[in-house]
Amino acid sequence: MNVLTRKSLDIDAIRADFPILQTLVNGHQLVYLDNGASSQKPLYVIDAMDTYWKQTNANVHRGVHHLSQKATQQFDAARETMRVFLNASSSKEVIFTAGCTASINLVAQTWGRTNIQAGDEILISTMEHHSNIVPWQLLADQVGAVIKVIPMTDAGEIELDVYEKLLSDKTKLVGIVHVSNSLGTINPVKEMIQLAHKAGAKVLVDGAQAAPHMRIDVQALDADFYVVSCHKMYAPTGIGVLYGKQQLLEAMPPYQGGGDMIYTVSFEKTTYAELPYKFEAGTPNIAGVIGLGASVEYLATLGQQLLGDSEGSLSQNLDACFGWIEEREAELLAYGTAAISDISGLKLTGTAAHKAGILAFTLDCAHPHDVGTVLDNQGIAVRTGHHCCMPVMTRLGIPATTRASIGLYNTFEDIDDLVAGIKRVKELFG
Ligand code: PLP
Repeated sequence: MNVLTRKSLDIDAIRADFPILQTLVNGHQLVYLDNGASSQKPLYVIDAMDTYWKQTNANVHRGVHHLSQKATQQFDAARETMRVFLNASSSKEVIFTAGCTASINLVAQTWGRTNIQAGDEILISTMEHHSNIVPWQLLADQVGAVIKVIPMTDAGEIELDVYEKLLSDKTKLVGIVHVSNSLGTINPVKEMIQLAHKAGAKVLVDGAQAAPHMRIDVQALDADFYVVSCHKMYAPTGIGVLYGKQQLLEAMPPYQGGGDMIYTVSFEKTTYAELPYKFEAGTPNIAGVIGLGASVEYLATLGQQLLGDSEGSLSQNLDACFGWIEEREAELLAYGTAAISDISGLKLTGTAAHKAGILAFTLDCAHPHDVGTVLDNQGIAVRTGHHCCMPVMTRLGIPATTRASIGLYNTFEDIDDLVAGIKRVKELFG
């Protein structure tokens, strides 16, 4: 595996770790700028999953046989890896789910159903992904709670003063996105959590777009719940992580019932397994979890190279890797922002002071779907539409945007290609 022997971080070598980047699309080398929707996977992750299927495939936690024990070892090791990734205090606080959406629904239907009553308030922001809106609406309908919305400015920043005023002793939960997928805004979640806690509310942070781009520390944030979408962080689809503070998870009823989440079953009374298994009914996505562990190991290996191949801990290696990712993605964002801002008729959507690598825009001469199609003709993959953030589009008075989202393998040439591609759209539609 070349990633293990590389001496310094070299973007060409990183790109070589992601075989799909060599694909030709419509006769052009693929320029992949749709990382916000889903990232590509390095060979290291693909190999880890392939090896599992070929050499250690068996169900976990149930077998005394060799393969089952091997699979269980790898599965449990990935949970510990994710504990370090999030800096959770215990691996009992790391629950594997099917994704970010599944994690939020779990919290709404377990913690929410037990702790939110008629008349209680749930605060969510205008810039939430539908995944952090609809589960709370379903809950509100079930229990008679009220949803209140934290507004945002034209630039796409949370109106903190209004947020503070909205908080009251009626507020039971604040749901806030760490990094907005439609705007790129990095929200001041630590400050927001402190304010919510002062009001006696719990906070669920949607970290889907944060986890691939910055070091997450759930203890430093003091988040009550933090949810991660793993397919956006170089891991496979169909796997997510729910972090929850142990005492909250202990007090929550199970979500789904079935195998693995029980301690004893009888027709008179069933008792439930300890954390984290209480929330993991049925056979889990074993290959997905192993792939997830590998994706974090891959990032850590990059960090290790930055530290000069000295024997850093997993946590130190991740610190180094994310230090590099943040710096590089900030440079790409600044470069891209300057370049596309020069294009006449183009309006950037999301101009917050504190932003992650997302370039969303509208063009006066073409609908985003046409922009996306013309870019695709040139091998450039972007996302067009409302990005599962219809309230953001309503707030800004636009139907849709075109969104280019940056990942760790993107280059300045990718941004140049994007700019050239947009200019081609203008030639065709302008
Ligand atoms: N939250 C945000 C901010 C997202 O960007 C997404 C996916 O785009 C989700 C939640 C949903 O994540 P998942 O696909 O893991 O359900």
